[in-house]
Amino acid sequence: MRLSQFHLATVKEVPAEAEIASHQLMLRAGMIRKLASGLYTWSPLGLRVLRKVEQIVREEMNRAGAIEMLMPSVQPRELWEETGRWEKFGGQLLKIKDRKEQEFCYGPTHEEVVTDFARNELKSYKQLPVNFYQIQTKFRDEIRPRFGVMRAREFLMKDAYSFHLDQASLAETYEAMYQAYTRIFTRLGLKFRAVQADTGAIGGNASHEFQVLADSGEDAIVFSDGSDYAANVEKAEALAPAVTRPAPATALQRAETPRVRSVEDVTRHFGITADRVLKTVLVRGKDGGLVALCLRGDHDINEVKAAKLAELPDESVLASEEEILAAVGTRPGFIGPVGLPDSIPVIVDRSAAVLADFVCGGNANDAHYTGANWERDARITRVEDIRQVVAGDPSPDGHGQLRFARGIEVGHVFQLGSKYAQALDATVLDDQGKKQVMLMGCYGIGVSRIVAAAIEQRHDEAGILWPEAMAPWRVAVCVINPKHAPDVNAAAESLYNELVARGIETVWDDRGLRPGAMFADMELIGIPHRVVVSERGLGAGTLEYRARDAAESLAITRDELLEL
Ligand code: ATP
Ligand code: MG
Ligand code: MG
Ligand code: MG
Repeated sequence: MRLSQFHLATVKEVPAEAEIASHQLMLRAGMIRKLASGLYTWSPLGLRVLRKVEQIVREEMNRAGAIEMLMPSVQPRELWEETGRWEKFGGQLLKIKDRKEQEFCYGPTHEEVVTDFARNELKSYKQLPVNFYQIQTKFRDEIRPRFGVMRAREFLMKDAYSFHLDQASLAETYEAMYQAYTRIFTRLGLKFRAVQADTGAIGGNASHEFQVLADSGEDAIVFSDGSDYAANVEKAEALAPAVTRPAPATALQRAETPRVRSVEDVTRHFGITADRVLKTVLVRGKDGGLVALCLRGDHDINEVKAAKLAELPDESVLASEEEILAAVGTRPGFIGPVGLPDSIPVIVDRSAAVLADFVCGGNANDAHYTGANWERDARITRVEDIRQVVAGDPSPDGHGQLRFARGIEVGHVFQLGSKYAQALDATVLDDQGKKQVMLMGCYGIGVSRIVAAAIEQRHDEAGILWPEAMAPWRVAVCVINPKHAPDVNAAAESLYNELVARGIETVWDDRGLRPGAMFADMELIGIPHRVVVSERGLGAGTLEYRARDAAESLAITRDELLEL
């Protein structure tokens, strides 16, 4: 690509709302432009990177035996009524009406549509297992879109859905997807971890998230340094057996304030200012005790729960764990500000006796509260029982010590079981000619989020450091003073043609900018290899080569460059 014929639009200033490096750098490099909250245009430069990610995802999905298809983004209400999710999905579901007043949603995910497809297409066990996938635009009306494409409202997802006759087959495809994801993130050149994830309300059997490690990540993960054990914080109960040590008093001070009678009490006692409390639901226990469930709107782990909670009237009566699960879509212990430095566990009034036997998943920085697990029928709460797992504690699997890290969720694999197929009556005939409800798995990858996550992990003051596999171009040919040195320009053109002929994606900066401005742009947009063609170098028979992550340039010959 000749840069003079491309649209490169780097900028110096970025709006203050761009809080994290990837958002700032994507704007500065001109990869994305904001249209409205959570809606971004991908510029030609940004799109080149997005397509790279998409292609690697596609190749590995195909290699793992999944089959590509494409479903509509707009989905009819009736289908979502069949699974009950038209109501239950909450505020993230963007509902729209057509001119005939018929209702639709803009798909946040495609379980309903793909299961509808499957119930019509799949009739016999002989067609199973089958794994359909698409790479398609999703819309989720996120409570707080932020960080650019990292948490957008419209974003690109790869979503796959597999169909099976039995659990063994589901487990096999799940494993194949797990391996495919591992290959994808390895090929993309990212540091990542697969962590056990909470299966929450959907109640499936197994779930793993793929987390790109980055300090700015919204998720907290805990892992062992001596084994493969790794979990996200929501999977708190996985740690319960490892709990040995009471939390330090300081960490629990806030939770010791016992009586919570109103939203104002929560705000006062726990130091959360009203604007940060999204919703406080006071759940009245059978004996009149209150349990306060606080949510803070700026942490997304809680958004789905928040959306559901927001629909509950204040002081709702939810008398059992099952009722809470049904209303909020999660176990009570998992409702709480998670992963924030000053976060607190779910707050439980001492007089509330109804919520026995749950685990509290609130978390502080580098700590992981578990074990607020009172015996059934015992009086809640003995705050002293809440324990904290800290870095260095033994891993629950007995191997190694626990460590904490922050991550960005870029992929999620899930064994759904029969939930959707049951609701939509998606059945096949087995080898006995008997009708069987199919089992399903679902597997998502945040294609557009990966672009931001990679930058979060790989950048410096000058700009982005793309892994080779994601770079918009691998090599930048920069020519100094082309207008005044025709032979230099000709040498650059010939080098460029040679690189292109060899199938190396190359950008030729023929814009005639001053060297400083040109180099700054190439560093900002993160091209892994830069070669400078200049009059001086030509005289000496060399080119000036610099790897994006190297401190210094090298004088090399054209042949040496072509060897790289
Ligand atoms: P998160 O916890 O970050 O909200 P999720 O668990 O709601 O993500 P899934 O339903 O598991 O997301 O969707 C599959 C993938 O889609 C996620 O792993 C993530 O990479 C991506 N994704 C989800 N929401 C967004 C978003 N708002 N913007 C960009 N990518 C997203
Ligand atoms: Mg979400
Ligand atoms: Mg998630
Ligand atoms: Mg997820």
